Amino acid sequence: MKQYDVIIVGAGPAGLTAGLYCARAKLKTLILDKMSPGGQLLLTDAIEDYPGFDRISGMELTEKMENQARKFGAQIQLEEVQEVRIENGKKIVKTDAEVYETPVVIITSGSSPNKLEVPGERELVGKGVSYCALCDGAFFEGEDIAVVGGGDSALKEGIFLTKFARKLYLIHRRDQFRAQKNYQDKVRGHPKIELILDTVVERIEGDKTVQRLITRNVKTSQRRELPVTGVFIFIGSTPNTQFLSNHLERDPNGYLVTNAHMQTSEEAVYAAGDIRSQLTRQISNAVGDATVAAVAAEHYLESVASKDRRAP
Ligand code: NAP
Repeated sequence: MKQYDVIIVGAGPAGLTAGLYCARAKLKTLILDKMSPGGQLLLTDAIEDYPGFDRISGMELTEKMENQARKFGAQIQLEEVQEVRIENGKKIVKTDAEVYETPVVIITSGSSPNKLEVPGERELVGKGVSYCALCDGAFFEGEDIAVVGGGDSALKEGIFLTKFARKLYLIHRRDQFRAQKNYQDKVRGHPKIELILDTVVERIEGDKTVQRLITRNVKTSQRRELPVTGVFIFIGSTPNTQFLSNHLERDPNGYLVTNAHMQTSEEAVYAAGDIRSQLTRQISNAVGDATVAAVAAEHYLESVASKDRRAP
């Protein structure tokens, strides 16, 4: 079994930051991700609220973080983690390619977009239904599309999509957005955006590709048919914890509960970034969480080593 001091599961901003700090502390560090580094950052066109950068693309920020982690010696492997189990205090990390052993795991596996779970959604994914504006927006040049959701993602990505769309319906189930005021100001009065509030999507229809949405106003029960060729869904996300045993404590939404040192309910299993139960999920706090987790991991390894030195 290959051995590392620390294994980090997930190579988004939290994972790359944990990797940087662990490697810089001279720990033998492995970062695992089934996809190329970046996580949700790769789905983000422009970041304007990460301190120190007026504006930077998700791709560019990823490259900087990845290069910095690698420079200090973090190894990054593209492997899908299938299981993390604990045997006599040791953590066994099984991927689709290898089995690793480590005393410390940092979970930074983030979250995946939620589905509307309405008829037509699954059938038309990739045929007009999308969860990624940066990946798919350009396919809708000059077309009429819809965005569903009322959080930062929906409004931010909706604004981005107006670069391509002729018209954009922004559909939200309430009459209040939870997104930052800055984004709300930009969508209200935007010449290409029509707000459709207090409204849910009932069905997504189309033969081979999306042709229309059927919506229902939750206050008046009035239905409306929207002739769109694309629908972008941004209604929150679910933590990626499938590979973890169930005994780790989670909050009611499934996010991992940690203490102030980012330790989960299991000793030497830390969590950082979007996977963690917390108020907000920004790049800046993912990076902050990961710093704490990495330093806590280093302290843990030091304490184990000094106990071993004292042992007769
Ligand atoms: P979010 O804040 O959880 O918002 C999800 C939105 O989807 C809410 O408006 C919610 O409506 C709506 N929704 C949930 N389930 C729905 C359903 N089944 N049908 C219809 N609508 C549904 O998720 P998010 O926008 O992805 O943001 C996640 C985190 O990332 C947040 O902390 C956010 O601040 C952060 N973020 C930050 C930025 C940034 O630029 N700084 C960008 C993106 C994300 P209700 O409001 O009625 O619950």
